[in-house]
Amino acid sequence: MRIVLLGAPGSGKGTQSQLLVEAYRVPQISTGDLLREAVARRTDLGVRAKAAMDQGRLVDDAIVLEMIRERLARPDTATGFILDGFPRNIPQAVALEKLLADLGQPLDAVVLMNLDLGVLFKRLTGRRTCADCGRVFNILTSPPGTPPHCTRCDDHPTLVQRPDDCESVIGKRLEVYEAQTKPLIQHYSDNGLLRVVEADAEIASVFRELHRVIDAAVERNRRARAG
Ligand code: AMP
Repeated sequence: MRIVLLGAPGSGKGTQSQLLVEAYRVPQISTGDLLREAVARRTDLGVRAKAAMDQGRLVDDAIVLEMIRERLARPDTATGFILDGFPRNIPQAVALEKLLADLGQPLDAVVLMNLDLGVLFKRLTGRRTCADCGRVFNILTSPPGTPPHCTRCDDHPTLVQRPDDCESVIGKRLEVYEAQTKPLIQHYSDNGLLRVVEADAEIASVFRELHRVIDAAVERNRRARAG
């Protein structure tokens, strides 16, 4: 199953991707995670990407596309993948289509995680990540304990806030989403791949709906291929 999770920052793409990885046993490919890793390791690519990320802008398409090309060439994507945070604009979507056509691996669906702007703001300002296992919490909507700590890791490492989740950068990221990423909704609606899931609900119920929508799309494509 090959899907794209589309949605504004804070719509739950990362959280739902982690659940989908367990359910479908395919890798999650998050350009945000790959970029943060490159920044942390201070690679050439990370150094070039850092300024844009700190300011909430998109990193150059060329950098992100190179990263995606390399990632999709790894053998673990043979049974499918979940793209999380990519594509983020029309040129990236066009490049992805070409890349997947060359690989003979077309997308099954693009699922939009639909959420109100006000809710997004609250989700982003409250978001904290476990520095150890990467699990995501929200100290405003589901307090993980006092002081905030990871409920999964035995030694309860402290939760950290992503530098671009501060209020000044969040505004910019939502602006970038509106201007550059939102046009993808029309793009994928026009080519018949778009599915929509309402994301303002409990994690488990959003997941159930996501699962249903993805299964239906994969089955439909399987039948179409079988003729
Ligand atoms: P995310 O974790 O998906 O919210 O991404 C964090 C930051 O990484 C974004 O604000 C961008 O600066 C950068 N980024 C992630 N994915 C992309 C992409 N597909 N294209 C350009 N920049 C990206």
